[in-house]
Amino acid sequence: MQLIYLDNNATTMVAPEVKAAMLPWLEQHYGNPSSAYSFARSVSEAIEQARSQVASLIGAKPSEIVFTSCGTESDNTAIASALSANPMKKHIITTMVEHPAVFKYCALMETRGYKVSYLPVDSFGRLNVNDLHAVISPIDTALVSVMFANNETGVLFPIKDIGRLLRGQGIIFHSDAVQAAGKIPINVKELNLDMLSLSGHKLHAPKGIGALYVREGLPYQPLIIGGHQENGRRAGTENVASIVGLGVACQLAERLISEEAAYLAKLRNKIEDVLLRDCPGNMVNGDRDNRLPNTTNLSFEYVDGEAILMMLDMQNICVSTGSACSSGSSEPSRILSAMNVPPTAIHGSLRLSLSRYNTESEIDTALNAITTVVKKLRAISPFV
Ligand code: PLP
Repeated sequence: MQLIYLDNNATTMVAPEVKAAMLPWLEQHYGNPSSAYSFARSVSEAIEQARSQVASLIGAKPSEIVFTSCGTESDNTAIASALSANPMKKHIITTMVEHPAVFKYCALMETRGYKVSYLPVDSFGRLNVNDLHAVISPIDTALVSVMFANNETGVLFPIKDIGRLLRGQGIIFHSDAVQAAGKIPINVKELNLDMLSLSGHKLHAPKGIGALYVREGLPYQPLIIGGHQENGRRAGTENVASIVGLGVACQLAERLISEEAAYLAKLRNKIEDVLLRDCPGNMVNGDRDNRLPNTTNLSFEYVDGEAILMMLDMQNICVSTGSACSSGSSEPSRILSAMNVPPTAIHGSLRLSLSRYNTESEIDTALNAITTVVKKLRAISPFV
């Protein structure tokens, strides 16, 4: 049975161009980039080329990019570094809907004496900048960490407005752009960002590689301590092939970004149009006017999202759900709960996230399957 992969916010296929670019660094050029002989020099040059490619995607300077092992490490590093840069300040501002890489790290900081303000979102998953303004403490706020786009709904956050608000206040501004990077244009300079996280496996590079943008001149404290790699900013021998892969993935994303966004939004809108028409009692979660082009989060009230997921899995169609037990969590989606989505709708929620490799015919097949599965489950639901 043909695989139809509609869970690209979980991870993505490695692009063929990325794989091809990586292979020489696994096969012939296996030198350690820190070594002094010429066999290793090409390896360190490849890393620097990748650094330029990543920097270019987000409007940064190459020297402002630190390679990490994943988005989670980038997020943890950003928070830890920001707090150690300002040891007298004990206040963090973040949101209720961050990925655990930020959310749980902030919760850990609470146990270490920090006060954390978790900003709410409205029923469309939107953040109000006035709420952020209201909790800023000019003397005590060390860090504002707000995601660029939410992983479950795709809703975009007002990063530009927050950057403007924080300008000149001496508060470090970090954004987790793991879902946004490569899908929408980002320019860290225009946005007044101090730090930004991204992750390879969300943009067709392999798993286990990430990057952190650190604005030039920002006080910085590494999380991983050891050798002098990454100019002393992240110890550990570099994951060379994956770094090269991330560079090529960023270059591809930068080149394709606008045509890909239009293509994905067209497919995504088709999914919503068909399902809203053919599955009554269905709704879209999140601000439909301000989202990533590849993401839709739908709720089928009184139907169990887990059951939909499993019945689609039997047809080799991959999606994800915000209901209990999905993604290894035993709780219903914290994101949809924060948006006040009713429990009956959270349990029937489904996230479909697309990539450049999805075709319209895959979407048609998936739409037929989803409509049939939802009708079957509705027919046996005791609540309708
Ligand atoms: N931040 C967001 C918004 C994510 O969606 C993810 C992964 O799902 C991460 C951080 C963590 O990235 P990684 O899997 O590379 O650690």
